[in-house]
Amino acid sequence: MSLLYSDPNLEIIWEKLAHGERLNSEDGVRLYRSNDIVTLGQLALEAKEKQFGKTVYFSNNLYINPTNICDVGCYFCAFARPEDAPDAYVISLEEIGQRVREAVERFNVHEVHIVGGLYEKLSFDYFAGIVSVIKEASPSLFVKAFTAVEIDFLAKMGKMSIRECLLELKRRGLDSLPGGGAEILGERVRKKICPQKITGKEWIDIHREAHEVGLVTNATMLYGHVEGPEDRVEHMIMIRDLQDETGGFRSFVPLAFHPKNTKLDHISPTDGMLDLKNFAVARLLMDNVPHIKAYWTTLGMKMAQVSLYFGVDDFAGTNINEKIMHDAGASSPVETTRKEIVRLIKEAGFEPCEVDSSYSTQYA
Ligand code: SF4
Repeated sequence: MSLLYSDPNLEIIWEKLAHGERLNSEDGVRLYRSNDIVTLGQLALEAKEKQFGKTVYFSNNLYINPTNICDVGCYFCAFARPEDAPDAYVISLEEIGQRVREAVERFNVHEVHIVGGLYEKLSFDYFAGIVSVIKEASPSLFVKAFTAVEIDFLAKMGKMSIRECLLELKRRGLDSLPGGGAEILGERVRKKICPQKITGKEWIDIHREAHEVGLVTNATMLYGHVEGPEDRVEHMIMIRDLQDETGGFRSFVPLAFHPKNTKLDHISPTDGMLDLKNFAVARLLMDNVPHIKAYWTTLGMKMAQVSLYFGVDDFAGTNINEKIMHDAGASSPVETTRKEIVRLIKEAGFEPCEVDSSYSTQYA
């Protein structure tokens, strides 16, 4: 491939990649500092196509947020409510079972994604019961449930170790963990946006244990608030290091911060340059995490489509019933159809392939 650089720094990166050399933290920051977005895209597209050719993955999935009651107080969160708020809720296990049956019947979903608040008046049996009722409603559904933050909470609630908690949930039918709660893993930023949450190291340790007991997981990165390029690079390197050890991460999901209705509402929403750079940097720096996902709910459909030229190979899912990002003012549709995702991927010149979060292609 020949490149037309407007930024000579990218030539250094290209040389390294051409020689199969791994990029380091300084390279990551260099990539972020470059505004040669076309070359960044070209480098990331080439790296993606080497692995996946023209294939772009997506899933047909249902979202369930069992409760929005949470008093952890993350400053970036627009979803959590105090117990006595008029719109605070807990969804009963019966209703969860009902929603799942309906989504299978009406939309033929293959996966359920579950994340929610940490409400201390619920019990371990309630949360574990969510997995059981989903599997009872439809045994073949792939269950991706509970971020590392929730796993830590559930283990304490059930008076068990993290490993015991993961094994019990797995016994009930849990297939994978979503990547949430990672935010920015470095403590400098974490103290400013979510001081009460588990630490970045604890998040990494829980994912290590999940991988060790045979669960695959994702990793997110919430960007566009108080962090800088160095923090994002540190975050990616922490994930890359664990991936070297375990190989258990399946995808990396950058999440654009939506400030509306949060304590950080003085911050401007992210811009297109940063949105696109994140994908390209992630693809090039995290050479061992196979999939990079464009979460269209936070990006908008149009930007998600463009991101397929910036290292993204996963268009996320139909996201039926998504709530968390829409509480924070996301202007994207609440959900979409399988047909629309297939259309957008094809319009961009790629080949859609339906999978679940283990990237099983049995639905294609
Ligand atoms: S991000 Fe999660 S843990 Fe933090 S306040 Fe919101 S619901 Fe609670």
